[in-house]
This record gives sequence, structure tokens and C-alpha cells, in this order.
Amino acid sequence: MRVAVIGSGVAGLAGAAHLARAGHAVTIFERFKTPRPLGAGLLLQPAGLAALDRLGLRAGAEARGARVSRLLGRTPTGRTVLDLRYAHGRPGDIGIGIHRASLFELLLTAAQDAGAQWRTGAGVVRLENMETAPRLRLESGETTAPFDLALICDGAHSVLRRQVCPDAIERVYPWGALWAVRPDPDGQRHGDLDQVYDGCRVMIGLLPIGDDPADPGAGPAVSFFWSLRTDELADWRKAGLDAFKARVAGYWPRAGATIDGVEEFGGFSEARYLDGVCRRWRNGRAVLIGDAAHAMSPQLGQGANLALADAATLSDTLADEAPLTRALPRFESKRRPVATYYTWMSRALTPVFQSDSKLLGWLRDLAMGLGCRLPLIRNWMAWTLAGRGRMPG
Ligand SMILES: Cc1cc2nc3c(=O)[nH]c(=O)nc-3n(C[C@H](O)[C@H](O)[C@H](O)COP(=O)(O)OP(=O)(O)OC[C@H]3O[C@@H](n4cnc5c(N)ncnc54)[C@H](O)[C@@H]3O)c2cc1C
Repeated sequence: MRVAVIGSGVAGLAGAAHLARAGHAVTIFERFKTPRPLGAGLLLQPAGLAALDRLGLRAGAEARGARVSRLLGRTPTGRTVLDLRYAHGRPGDIGIGIHRASLFELLLTAAQDAGAQWRTGAGVVRLENMETAPRLRLESGETTAPFDLALICDGAHSVLRRQVCPDAIERVYPWGALWAVRPDPDGQRHGDLDQVYDGCRVMIGLLPIGDDPADPGAGPAVSFFWSLRTDELADWRKAGLDAFKARVAGYWPRAGATIDGVEEFGGFSEARYLDGVCRRWRNGRAVLIGDAAHAMSPQLGQGANLALADAATLSDTLADEAPLTRALPRFESKRRPVATYYTWMSRALTPVFQSDSKLLGWLRDLAMGLGCRLPLIRNWMAWTLAGRGRMPG
């Protein structure tokens, strides 16, 4: 088939690599002109690593990233609230913290090596003739030749989602985060995802991510994040960088040391979260995958993992089922249950970590502390974190 892939994020590049390897003629259309090592770290969960392994890229991710075996959450006074090991879900499980740009490079190389064409500066504004032979209308005004299949992978803020599912629900969260990739002050490559919470209003995290592609000689890097209401960002800027650094260091000296060398507020990236739910992921010969199909807040760290698994399942289903009009519904029915599970879990958890509620923070500290000590609950939490969906049985 002639396949158009719209977007070269995690879903698009993984989808392009799978389909090009299966012998399809794949062209990727990407809005940005030049890739830059933007964005911060991602935590790849065991299910995402299994999907990467299908492309032979797990070893590359492990070499560039950092092994994460445990999630730790503490109050500013040092009381442990969360202590969860991947191995509680399934022995041998680990996560990999990795810079987004490292993952991008691995996936792009795999897609291009398999023969996929990559067109940058080629933002897509519309799909025409989706029912029989989709053509793409580009920002430049060009309309492409027809394709047999269009994979819509334009991310959480998709402009094409509503063409497939006109009644899609899109809800922007009032909370987001400031992120920065920094050299690890302790010089550790591997470690825990470490977080400090003060109620639901303060959450600071440090995720080991291995190499920083923007500064490969700088030693092991960590991804720092600070949760905040997006409408308070302007106040933070006005108060100045020193006030921000002092606030972070007051809660957690190690996190303060991590961002000490940041020289301007522009050294932090802003992340805004969006919940996007579609009643249908396909329309004729077009299909949504990744965040375009199921955007969620990154509270559970599942989005990239779901995107990788979507791509692998779509490729398997296209190989097993024909015609396309049967394969696409089959793909959707395979992936929807796990995406729905994580959509609901992320929705439920987001206000527990990011809101103005005092009660929720207190209840969270109590319930998570207890849950981590009860083997059944703890194993379910670790299983869910691993990205495998509901626990069997
Ligand atoms: C702060 C933050 C932290 C996160 N942490 C984690 C984590 O720890 N673990 C995890 O698994 N997930 C995490 N996620 C979620 C993860 O980043 C996403 O789920 C994942 O990137 C989704 O992949 P995607 O390919 O669907 O979309 P994206 O990776 O967003 O890619 C979309 C691509 O489409 C391109 N594009 C957009 N519009 C168009 C257009 N009209 N035409 C052409 N190209 C277009 C964009 O430029 C981009 O390249 C995090 C997200 C955020 C914001």
C-alpha cells in the first residue's frame, strides 16, 4: 500500500518503521522544518519496551537511556509516600528513562533504514477523500497524490482528529509542568524516579535519562519537572528565576542543585496537558493512533508506550486481516480497552497530584503509603504502571 503517516512523533515513526518493514511505500509528513533536541525525558514502561523490542530498538534505548527500577515519592520532611518497584508487577521488569530526542533518533533511523520517506516542513491541514483514497492538503497549499491509507499521528493537539471523529472531546487541563534536562548533580546514570509532594499543589520530580543528546559529553542527565497551574506561569516569571530556584531548593536541596545552573526562565520547557477522547479512531481509509486517538495527562507516564504499542498492533493487524475496511475496526477493538483503562486512570489520578485540593493530597499520602505495603494492591499498582492494562484475573 501507499501509506501517508502524518506526524513524526513516537506513534508516527514507530508506525512508519513497522509498515515500511512490511513492504509498504511509506511517506511521513511532518510539520516542523528541522528537528531539535527539544522536550524533556520520557519514562518507557515495560510494555513500551516490549513494543520497541519488536523493532529491535530496545538495546539502543537502554544504551542511551537510564535504567529505572523504582518510583519513590516523599513529603518535604522525608516521609515516604510511594515506594513502588516495577518488579512488584512482574519480576525482572524495569523502566527506561530516556531523552525524547534520543528516542526520536532511534525511531527515525529505523523508519528511514526501512525505506520510509520523511518530508519536513509539510504540515497537513486537511484530509480529502478519506473514504476511498485519502489525499493530504498541506499548509503550503499543495494537495498530495492519493494514498491507500493515512495514519494520523499528529499528537495530543491534533488538528485532524475531528475529521475522523467530529464529536471528539478535547479538554485542556488547568495544570501542566516546567521541565528541564540537566546534568545529574550526583553523577548517577541509573536510579529511581524520585518525587517530592507537598499536598496536591507541589510536585517536583527527577527522572534519570542517561545521555543528553544536546550535550553528550556532560555525563548522565536527569529530567527535572515542577508541576504548576498554567495560569500561574506569568507570576513565576515576574517573581524571577532566583525566587523559583529558592522555592525548589527549599523543598528539596537535590532538585535545587540540579537547576542551579539554569540561567534564564527560557531554560525550562512548558508542558500543557490535554485529555482527548474519540468515539471512533477510523474513518474510511484514515486511522488515528497515539495521542491523536487518546491524549491524556502524563501522570502515569503511558502516552509514548501506548503509541509504540498502537503502531505494533496496527502493523500486525494489517498483516493478518484484509481488506482494510475489516482490519481497521479490528485494530481499534484490540487497542481500545487498554487506551480506555489508561484514560480513566490518568483522569482519576491527575487531580490527586495536581489540584488545589488539600483533602486529596492528604488522602493520597495515606492511601498510597498503605497500598505500597499491601502486596495485592502494590502488585496491581506496579502492573498498571508497567503499561499492560488491567491485571489478568
Ligand atoms: C511533559 C510530558 C511528559 C511526558 N512523559 C511521558 C512519560 O514519561 N512516558 C510516556 O510514555 N509518555 C509521556 N508523555 C506522553 C508522550 O510524550 C506522548 O504520549 C507521545 O509523545 C505521543 O506520541 P505521538 O506520536 O502520538 O505524538 P507526538 O510525540 O506529540 O508527535 C506528534 C508529531 O506530529 C507533528 N505534527 C503535529 N501536527 C501536525 C500536522 N498538522 N501535520 C504534520 N505533522 C504534525 C508534531 O510536530 C510531532 O512531531 C509525556 C508528555 C508530556 C507533555
